[in-house]
Formats: sequence, C-alpha cells, structure tokens
Amino acid sequence: MEVIIHRGTHQIGGCATEYRTKNTRIFIDFGAELDSENAKLFDIEGVTKGETNCDAVFFTHYHGDHIGLLDTINKDIPLYMGEVSKGIAKILNDRISKSANIESYNTERIDNIKTFAVATPIVIGDIKVTPYMVDHSAFDAYMFKIEADGKSVLHTGDFRTHGFKGKGVKALLEKYVKKVDALVCEGTTLNRAEAKCETENDLKNRIKKVLEENKYVFVVCSSTNIDRLAGICSVIPRGKYCICDKYQLSVIDYVRKHSGQRSSLYRFNKVLYYSENLDEKMNDRGFCMFVRCGHPEHKRIMEKYKDKNPVVIYSMWQGYLEQDNIKEFLDGYQRLDMHTSGHADSDAIKMVIDTVQPETVIPMHTEVPETFLEIAENREVKLVNDREIIKI
Ligand SMILES: [Zn+2]
Ligand SMILES: [Zn+2]
Repeated sequence: MEVIIHRGTHQIGGCATEYRTKNTRIFIDFGAELDSENAKLFDIEGVTKGETNCDAVFFTHYHGDHIGLLDTINKDIPLYMGEVSKGIAKILNDRISKSANIESYNTERIDNIKTFAVATPIVIGDIKVTPYMVDHSAFDAYMFKIEADGKSVLHTGDFRTHGFKGKGVKALLEKYVKKVDALVCEGTTLNRAEAKCETENDLKNRIKKVLEENKYVFVVCSSTNIDRLAGICSVIPRGKYCICDKYQLSVIDYVRKHSGQRSSLYRFNKVLYYSENLDEKMNDRGFCMFVRCGHPEHKRIMEKYKDKNPVVIYSMWQGYLEQDNIKEFLDGYQRLDMHTSGHADSDAIKMVIDTVQPETVIPMHTEVPETFLEIAENREVKLVNDREIIKI
C-alpha cells in the first residue's frame, strides 16, 4: 500500500492524506488551511478535478482543518463520517450559510455523507477501513485503521488522552487496533513549551471554583467543543443560570438527543437560551453565559454587566488572542485564561507508539515533525514532505 500526505507534513491544518493500492484510492480528511486568508489553491487530479479516480473520502471529525474543502471534492465520490459528527457539521454549516447568506453551501453534500459505526470495518475495493472513536476537542472524532496489501496503518487524526474519554484510547488500541505496520500520527502540541496537558477534569474543577466565587461569568468557548461545554454545565452552582444563544443551544440539544446514553455528562440539564425577559433573574441570581468573540449580540449583553465586575473565562487556544477582533472583544474585562489542548501531549503519543508497536512512524498535523525522532526512539521515523509517496 502507498500513503501520500498531500498536506500536513509540516503544518497544522489543511489535512489530506491518500491511501492507495493498485486498484483502490481513498483519502482521509480534506481540510482547509487554518490561515484561510493566505490559503493556496488545493486541487488533486481525479479528486477535485478531471475524471474521478478516487473511491471514497473518510473524515476523522468536523473541524474545518479536516472537512473544510469537502465541497471541492468531485460529486460522485462517496464521503464517510461519524453520525453525530455529521449532525454537528450540518448545524455548523447551516449557521455559516445563514450568516453568509449563501443558499446551499455544502448542504447537499453534507446530507449525502454516509455514516459509519464504531469498530465496524468498511471495505472500499481492496482497502479495509475501521473507525475507532477517540478523545478530542471535537465530539465524535475517529482514528482509522487502514488495511490493504497485507499491511496495516493506524491514522490517528486529532486525538488526546487527557479529556473525559481519554483513558479509553489506550484500552481500544490494546483491545481492537493491536499491532500495526505503520503509524500516521498527529503532533500538534509538540512545539509548545509545556510538556504535559492539564486534564479536562482538572480544568473543569478550576472553572467550578471561579463560578462559585463570581456572580457574573462569561465563557468564551468554541460552540462545538462539546466536552468543555458539558464539563462547565455540570459544575454550575445551584441557583445560578446557565445561558447561551439559540444556535449554541441547538448544538447542545443535538448532542443531548444523540449521545445522552454515552455518558451522563451530556445531559446538559439546565441550559437556557438568552432572551431579554431573563435579564432581571440573571441579574439577581448570577449566571454563567457562553459567548463567542465577535458576536455583536453577545458583546451587547457583556456590556450591560461591564461595571458589575464580571469575569470572562477565555477557554480557547491562546494563539487566537493575537487576532484584533478577539482582542477588541475582550478589551476592558477581567479575563481568566482557562483552557487545555484538544491534542495529544508527548506522553500520549509515546503511549500510542508503545501500544501499537509500529515499524514506521510518520508524523503529520505538526510544525515540528523532527520531534518524533526523540519520542519514537527505536522506531523508524519517516520525515517526509507533502506529496511524497511512502511505501508501506
Ligand atoms: Zn486538526
Ligand atoms: Zn480537530
């Protein structure tokens, strides 16, 4: 089997990886680059242009750096995604279409995505793809085991082991994935100074304290970071309101409906959407409200409390704080930065390598692929460039 990382060997985001045999060609992810303003044209013969020569595209999860170029894929290529991931992608897309006033951007394509079930293989030609659910800041995210020509590769996608579902990662690798010939592994966090990531649970407990000690708390958080939202909702002090907007509540309702049985964490018991007739009660009893940077309505609500000493918990990646619109949104508020990464730290990557025992490790979704030389001692680490053919 051959593997080609079309994009992602030296960058985070814009992922697209090809797996092929003599007869079959599939892709994992087809993402947009994080820096959309400077994004380069991304065209692949037989996939986005020309006569179709690709049998399927599988998506690990709904983040834009993995599905962002979905609508550039030739219409006759089947797409696959986790069921809840597809549902969230659809809600996100509806919101983007509405705000950009575009009628059917992606809609049909998303509706037609086929879904897969955990640990149930899908056979495309002579390639077998088995999805395994992992812990990540996106809900319903998957690793894929790809088997063809007598070889096996584990494609991690984005994952971590310090979230609520983190412990399950090692267990599923041991029980289902077992040994593979090669590992295509993400390394997002490896250029950051801190070696170990705080657990989602410890972060939740720190946020709990802030909610107990402050009457008015706004939380800036990604609307699809479901585990973060669920964790915070589970520690709202008794008597206080938990507020968001209608769009955020539609995401929460979707997850509650489709994943309630996965864990009691996703019950989201007491979330209300904001309306002006809640103002008086919110003022009296205090609240935690989820907001998004740049949202004019959220900004207006925050301004009402500006002289009442509200706390703004910034619960997203620090890098975004450099952006002018975010700086402006948060300006003048008492800000607490409380976040933990959605990605594996080096211990988690080591654990995966030790568990699946690959002969070859191929880094991707990282700016520092060479750090894998230290992490994966005693293994062959293949440092490749975008579009290079790797034979497994
Ligand atoms: Zn990613
Ligand atoms: Zn992701």
